[in-house]
Amino acid sequence: MKIDKAELKDNILRELRRQYGKTLEEAHEFELYNAISKVALDYAMEKWYNTKKTYAKKQVKQMYYFSAEFLMGRFLGNNLINLQINDVIKETLNELGVDINKIEDREMDAGLGNGGLGRLAACFLDSLATLSLPGHGYGLRYKYGMFEQKIENGFQMEYPDDWTKYGDPWSIKRMDRVFEVKFGGQIEVHRDEFGKEYFKRVNTETVHAVAYDVPVIGYGNDTVNTLRLWEARSPEGFDLKLFNDQTYLQASAKAVQAEDISRVLYPNDTEKDGKQLRLKQQFFFTSASLQDIIRRYKSVFGNDFSKFADKVAIQLNDTHPVVAIPELMRIFLDKEKLGWDEAWNICKNVFAYTNHTILSEALEKWDISLFQPLLPRAYQIIEEINRRFVAELQEKYPGDWERINKMSIIGNGQVRMAWLAIVGSHKVNGVAALHTEILKNIELKEWNELYPEKFLNKTNGITQRRWLLKANPELAALITELIGDKWITNLYELKKLEQYLDDDNILNRVSEIKLHNKEKLAKYIKDTTGIEVNPNSIFDIQVKRLHEYKRQLLNVLHIMDLYNRLKENPYLDVEPRTFIFGAKSAAGYRRAKGIIKLINAVAEKVNNDSDINGKIKVVFLENYRVSLAEKIFPSADVSEQISTASKEASGTGNMKFMLNGALTLGTMDGANVEIVEEVGLENAFIFGLSAQEVENYQAHGGYNPFDEYNSVEGLKKVVDQLGDGTYDDNHTGIFRELQNSLLYGVDGSRPDVYFLLKDFASYREAQDRLQNAFKDRREWTRKALKNIANAGKFSSDRTIAEYAKEIWNIEPVQVQDYIES
Ligand SMILES: *Cc1c(COP(=O)(O)O)cnc(C)c1O
Repeated sequence: MKIDKAELKDNILRELRRQYGKTLEEAHEFELYNAISKVALDYAMEKWYNTKKTYAKKQVKQMYYFSAEFLMGRFLGNNLINLQINDVIKETLNELGVDINKIEDREMDAGLGNGGLGRLAACFLDSLATLSLPGHGYGLRYKYGMFEQKIENGFQMEYPDDWTKYGDPWSIKRMDRVFEVKFGGQIEVHRDEFGKEYFKRVNTETVHAVAYDVPVIGYGNDTVNTLRLWEARSPEGFDLKLFNDQTYLQASAKAVQAEDISRVLYPNDTEKDGKQLRLKQQFFFTSASLQDIIRRYKSVFGNDFSKFADKVAIQLNDTHPVVAIPELMRIFLDKEKLGWDEAWNICKNVFAYTNHTILSEALEKWDISLFQPLLPRAYQIIEEINRRFVAELQEKYPGDWERINKMSIIGNGQVRMAWLAIVGSHKVNGVAALHTEILKNIELKEWNELYPEKFLNKTNGITQRRWLLKANPELAALITELIGDKWITNLYELKKLEQYLDDDNILNRVSEIKLHNKEKLAKYIKDTTGIEVNPNSIFDIQVKRLHEYKRQLLNVLHIMDLYNRLKENPYLDVEPRTFIFGAKSAAGYRRAKGIIKLINAVAEKVNNDSDINGKIKVVFLENYRVSLAEKIFPSADVSEQISTASKEASGTGNMKFMLNGALTLGTMDGANVEIVEEVGLENAFIFGLSAQEVENYQAHGGYNPFDEYNSVEGLKKVVDQLGDGTYDDNHTGIFRELQNSLLYGVDGSRPDVYFLLKDFASYREAQDRLQNAFKDRREWTRKALKNIANAGKFSSDRTIAEYAKEIWNIEPVQVQDYIES
């Protein structure tokens, strides 16, 4: 886009005047952020209009990504890059004496998600727009996103994340797109003039869904898709009767209740939350989205629904939006008066479902006693879906009651959302090759036997626009200098970097860029924690949600052991290392919070022990989120991906590290398997039990952790140190509980469910290999470059191209110009 600097200057200054009545000198940084964002949005506006018009006029099939979470992070920097106006904006601001980086740092993250699943949705939107594909997001506009984490006394504290408090320049409120969503009440049976019966919901509690649109700007093209997020509002004149008869407070309390639906994101990652409000959120956003999709369809095709599945694809991101299946059936049956078979056929062809985890605690099931009163018509429809489905099973597996009971959508007093998703979708996918195999052969074995044609794999990916071009500008510039800029939209181009693997000059430059990024992070660490770290030490980083299966505790146990060894032998040959953590724990997850406290307790001790001469440092960075992640990945030497094999479905953090030249220290789990396949075993550090071994132990009741405790040198000491007061948990007893969970199991669970002690020796051995490898800096950098060069597969562009072809059946669309000038 060609932009005149003088005009840009005028626009920004005018926007400041218009919004705040201020001059540049008077404006706060956040006001300047808002002004620049509005000006940038203006440059996207025509493309946005043209994109919508093109899709409607060409009557193309469109895909809608239904997700309870979109972890978007910051918009400004990314949108400037995708609009390709970042250079001119930067220069213009420079001339005005303003540092764009400072302004970008003012933006609050749109943290409308927990972790990997929500960030995947965000990367997918970026790839859809960049590939010129007609695909949009539908979700919830939480007033409060992922909580802000502060570390106080070593403990995690949670504070509300009021992410729009300085304004929200990238959203456009759409009062012309408001829908009613109905909860509770009763169902009445009516007959139409032909005697056909249909159902009507009465005495419902009605909530309004108001749309907020966020532009999703493709990189270097004319496509601007839409992320539409719904806000809950109590309807106009809501409970006026209450207002008249009783008190104003009660009337407004009702309104508050309605608006609670989109008030806050549930901060549980991979853990179901059986709260009624959560189900309300799910139904609220899926119902509004479906009504909107039907409205759009009818505006082009009228009442003829025979083409619906040829024009609409809906991807269900995990089970959170699965209640969309009965809701679309309801709209077809009760409002559009379609017959069951016709409606059901369309549904199955519209929906596809992505499974994100095999952890049983994440499988969503709703008690009927909660579900039915809240969503009576949806429940009735699910009963009918299940009645027909079970009849099919009886035909196929006569007398096999065990199988039929296991597969029934309703059972044990609960609605099983994953089963509903599989029955109501035409495709079911896992998110990495290993994960999909486990689904097909173990977790969803019966389902794969019944519907083998439904199952397929779509290995996750990440967008290189945010995670390399934006996050690591120096490395991005070097790559472009060497192989041109095609990698920005075709990441396989990176393979061309292999010609420089033995070029000392290039290896030096890669190494210098890494050092420079490490210096920048070291400064951030100093500024935010006061801890002094050595940029020449190994930056060994584990950033991700805190969960026992991700095994941050294994990482800490190794640090405790390394520290013990150093204390015993000050001359021990250790390469200086900085262990960096970032992780939020679910607010109610006791042991996860205990692990955060332990990291901080170990950091406190190790960082302040002059005996070890600063050879190891431990840092916990608070409030891990997308914008912090962008600062962290470019500076990593080592990517800790140490989940218990079989438990991490894919991981995407592993891909961001690889793309930025970190070496993976990991188990053969999730997408690590495919990373190693791409880069070669010799360019990673792999350790631990295989998924198969873990499954075998689990099938036979686990293992005895005392075998390792008593035999692995140094292990007894660190496990004992959890209980003997070596590290201070402020009398909470939480470190002893961690110890108990390893040795005895707590709350009736097996000891060491996640095989930390079993994998300890193997992990330590890999750590030792790694530190020795770092001594040869040239060889290390060669491995780093090898990782970068082979990261092509892990672009979300590749993932999205596969979904588009094999699941959605959508194609790139050239956006036309519909604006008369
Ligand atoms: C990529 C990302 C994640 C996912 O990390 P994993 O290591 O795959 O669990 C979580 N949170 C943020 C902020 C991310 O950017």
